[in-house]
Amino acid sequence: MNYLVDYHIHTNNSFDSKVKMIDYCQRAVELGLKEVVFTEHFDLNPFDQGLGHFNFSKYSQEIEECREKFRKKLSIKKGLELGEPHLYQKQHSDFLKDKDFDFFLGSIHYVGNQVLHRTYNDEEDRDVYFKYFNEVLETAKNGDFHVLGHLDVLKRYVPRHFQKFTARDYEEIIREILKNVINNSKGIEINTSGYRQGLGEPLPTIDILKWYRELGGEIITIGSDAHHLQQLGQDLDKGIQIARELGFRGIWTFEKGKPQLISFK
Ligand SMILES: [Zn+2]
Ligand SMILES: [Zn+2]
Repeated sequence: MNYLVDYHIHTNNSFDSKVKMIDYCQRAVELGLKEVVFTEHFDLNPFDQGLGHFNFSKYSQEIEECREKFRKKLSIKKGLELGEPHLYQKQHSDFLKDKDFDFFLGSIHYVGNQVLHRTYNDEEDRDVYFKYFNEVLETAKNGDFHVLGHLDVLKRYVPRHFQKFTARDYEEIIREILKNVINNSKGIEINTSGYRQGLGEPLPTIDILKWYRELGGEIITIGSDAHHLQQLGQDLDKGIQIARELGFRGIWTFEKGKPQLISFK
């Protein structure tokens, strides 16, 4: 694939990254990436550490500077990673209505007021995957976004404490999520951060990508979920390989919310 893109990146416009946008752009050019989207965190849960961190005018100014500096070398898109979009529809649409974004990931980072990145234990958390997937289902049904972020991200946190994740144990609800994604003309992402986190696979797992394809899912984006400069573009080749093998036609990009296919050739 000669039009390589990274569709999940966090700069210092997200509370949990220190990287400057311009440094990512420089590195993207060095790596041969053709397009990037800066998908900054936009979480509205009252317990979120990053609440109020995102500053649209700072972000937009940096986008403009980078577009100017890397003109003809790199396409730079504007995006956000919206947390729990089904819960904050009004706030999101009020905030976004006069802004020129290209792309929104919809991601679950909280179940109720509990952040996913926490300690888990056997007794209380026996049903934690079901609770999580229920939340994902709600967002697939009612959230306003383009692509569902890191669909089975909970497997990043829970197994460290007790329970290994097997997609087949949750096949019914996951298929329900995927059907809603497809019916609502949304997509899912292949998030390659699973490789660097020692999971040996992307998020979601290959079984889920396979079910999505079987159900007629077409739209997939690919992203590294970089929070550090060296994570940019990491393992995209592995994600692309999987998508090819599963029979997807290509990887998708977005411009002002419109999906475009970059075919595998
Ligand atoms: Zn996320
Ligand atoms: Zn992210």
